[in-house]
Amino acid sequence: MVSGIPATNGRGYNVMSGVPATSGRGCRYKLWALMTHAAIILKYPIALIERLFPSILCRTKSQGIHLTFDDGPHPAATPVVLDILKQFGIQATFFLNGEHIDWYPELVRRIVKEGHSAQNHGYTHRNLFRCSAAVVKDELLKTTEAIMRHGGSTPKYFRPPFGFFRNETLKIAAECSLKPVLWSFDSKDYFHREKTFDRSIARHTFTGGEILLFHDNESTYGSAEKTVRSLVDFLSKRHFAFSAIEE
Ligand SMILES: [Zn+2]
Repeated sequence: MVSGIPATNGRGYNVMSGVPATSGRGCRYKLWALMTHAAIILKYPIALIERLFPSILCRTKSQGIHLTFDDGPHPAATPVVLDILKQFGIQATFFLNGEHIDWYPELVRRIVKEGHSAQNHGYTHRNLFRCSAAVVKDELLKTTEAIMRHGGSTPKYFRPPFGFFRNETLKIAAECSLKPVLWSFDSKDYFHREKTFDRSIARHTFTGGEILLFHDNESTYGSAEKTVRSLVDFLSKRHFAFSAIEE
């Protein structure tokens, strides 16, 4: 929490630290299954995820790079990100939480007006692995409706909160005409390692079509100034272009 920044929903946000506490009540799935899924997503090579879950998009066939920002809109973090993107003339993809859309609709309108892609990140940022089919569907449909109500076009993509999902989640997303999206590079902006970020991007071999994960939320507020600028500068010098996700 950053002083002066309005709280959002008080839940964790990122894959590494944001898993909600579990009471075990009503949970139909064993802990090992959840941990296995998380391990697959967090630790295994992207190629393996693509093989195990072919319906999930981890990178596109584009030659360009796709910047994505999760958890917004946020009243402090999102304008900073939008200002940087405008300065570089870059279009990005924002995976928005539905309840944040309803709290800060003017920011959604700005995202859309400035040519970015507004996509679906669930309504309340809950772990959909543990939710019933009815709840998952409600989370997705309410967020799609909120995006469209505030000027966005019909979302085509959905990123599961925390990167957690199960096969039923993917099936419901398909029923809602949403393609699941993860990422091929995690900026780990939630660690606020701005001083060592240059080294981390230098170690990664970037290729066309990569989907890069960033956040515009209260836990990453302040990091975008350094990380996004560094990354765009690094990749622009290597002649990569940037675009919103589009297949
Ligand atoms: Zn998220």
